[in-house]
Amino acid sequence: DGARLSEELLRMDGASYGRYKSLKGDWDFGDFTLTVQRVQADPFAPPSRVRVLIPDAGIPKSAWGDPVRRRATADYLGRRARRLLRGSLLKIDTGGQEVIERSSCQLTDGGIDLRIGIDLPGNGRRVDGRTAERELCRTLPGLVDDLDWEEVDTEEAAAFADSVADTVALRSRLEERGLVAFVADGAVLPRRSGVSDEPMTGGAVPFASPEGLRVSVDLPHRGTVSGMGIPEGITLIVGGGFHGKSTLLHALERGVYDHVPGDGRELVVTRDDAVKIRAEEGRRVERVDVSAFVRNLPTGADTSDFRTENASGSTSQAANICEAVEAGSRTLLVDEDSTATNLMIRDERMQALVHGDREPLVPFIDLVRPLRRDHGVSTVLVMGGSGDYFDVADHVIMLDAYHPHDVTERARGLAHERVDADFALPRPRVVDPASVDDSTSRGRGRIKRRDMDVLVFGDHDVDVRAVEQFVDPGQITGAGLALRELVAGRHLDGDRTLAQALDSLEEALDRKGVTLLGSDFGGDYALPRRFEVAAVLNRLRSLLVADPR
Ligand code: ADP
Ligand code: MG
Repeated sequence: DGARLSEELLRMDGASYGRYKSLKGDWDFGDFTLTVQRVQADPFAPPSRVRVLIPDAGIPKSAWGDPVRRRATADYLGRRARRLLRGSLLKIDTGGQEVIERSSCQLTDGGIDLRIGIDLPGNGRRVDGRTAERELCRTLPGLVDDLDWEEVDTEEAAAFADSVADTVALRSRLEERGLVAFVADGAVLPRRSGVSDEPMTGGAVPFASPEGLRVSVDLPHRGTVSGMGIPEGITLIVGGGFHGKSTLLHALERGVYDHVPGDGRELVVTRDDAVKIRAEEGRRVERVDVSAFVRNLPTGADTSDFRTENASGSTSQAANICEAVEAGSRTLLVDEDSTATNLMIRDERMQALVHGDREPLVPFIDLVRPLRRDHGVSTVLVMGGSGDYFDVADHVIMLDAYHPHDVTERARGLAHERVDADFALPRPRVVDPASVDDSTSRGRGRIKRRDMDVLVFGDHDVDVRAVEQFVDPGQITGAGLALRELVAGRHLDGDRTLAQALDSLEEALDRKGVTLLGSDFGGDYALPRRFEVAAVLNRLRSLLVADPR
């Protein structure tokens, strides 16, 4: 079939571009099968899609036998494929600094299943058959040869998988140690720039743990590593402006994912239920119980069943916290740089001026201890501008020129007594599946992404710019597909609460892998976490929630 495809492409040369459509279907090359799945209508349309199934690439079971190594080896081979395809019209989706399960490169037992995009070449609106022949009949078979395990630097591949396995092991030890996060000595946290997630090159100060919080952990491959353990409870990160507070918190946000060797954050891990909380003025909120934070609004609205098309900074942040807890998070990450001040603190003078009955907001500082004590929710909070949180913090870490110090005792000496408010868990919601519909007014399903900003879901644009733990474009598409699967896989049925529906979806994804989400989807996607799936659902402007029972 390979030779037949070659002839066919050369014969098509100069024909009208639409002739490419005739390529659809399977082409058996012997050691692999090329399936032309989707053909673009013209040279300027989104790329065509092909699947390359290599039944036997000689990959030994040691490289794919358990789910972690399988994901890591697939990721490694995907990155190798990207390098090999540089300068060609064939494009494969690979991760950035994180190692996330994705549709583009899947391991079958010993083999590889690739999904590749190709801009089918044209001379104006005519088929450029020669170039297409070169890409599909030479470059592609060459790629398949180069992905054979015989050709792979197997030591490097094994080291890649070992590193990911260590990260996963480290994260899994956090709970038994009573930690929410760990930052290894020697880790490099700062990034090259605001637009590059690669490690800072010159002048990065490596992480060095403060004595009081230093712990060591044994890992399967690297042996014993030491670093800073952030205990469960309420941890405050303080320090002067520009001393590295946000950089540390960012690393913790990303610590729910595994990083590639050389990233600097391979051994920076956070519990996988950690959710970054921020203010998000303008978002929609659909019947969230925010009554712990918001009591009597001037509008008289029932805040245990709060709905708005346009939340304020403080109510959006309250909703973000309540939704994270509803979805199952027990670790909140908060940075003063992106919070609503009036939801964080209220000082004595403001309380004296604006009396309690005139102030609908209960600040987070009055709820952070009840959250911890009554519901096991830990908080890591960056706060350089106010010492009020000394009153409620279990641990205080001060950054001084990027060096952390344990200043818990000194901060305790400055703390005051404080009376807490009550935090009742938000009322669980039941989602109306009919309100989660990816079909457009024309009837066809549509899931698309615009940069890292917007998920297009049916007729709706979901603004995801504030969902900061989306780290990979593919995860945004993946979250859209996950919404579709929540409905199609009947995970929302039987009056399941949202948390139960997410459990059910997660269980199916564990069993079947990320491709459960898009067996007939003609694009790339990656695995989203349950919290980002919930975040997209919560921002969907068509979302409806059933009446509370
Ligand atoms: P803060 O939140 O305390 O104001 P940031 O975390 O925003 O400070 O960091 C300020 C600057 O310092 C950033 O440009 C960041 O890249 C850089 N930086 C942070 N940590 C380090 C480090 N360990 N080594 C070198 N530069 C760092
Ligand atoms: Mg900051």
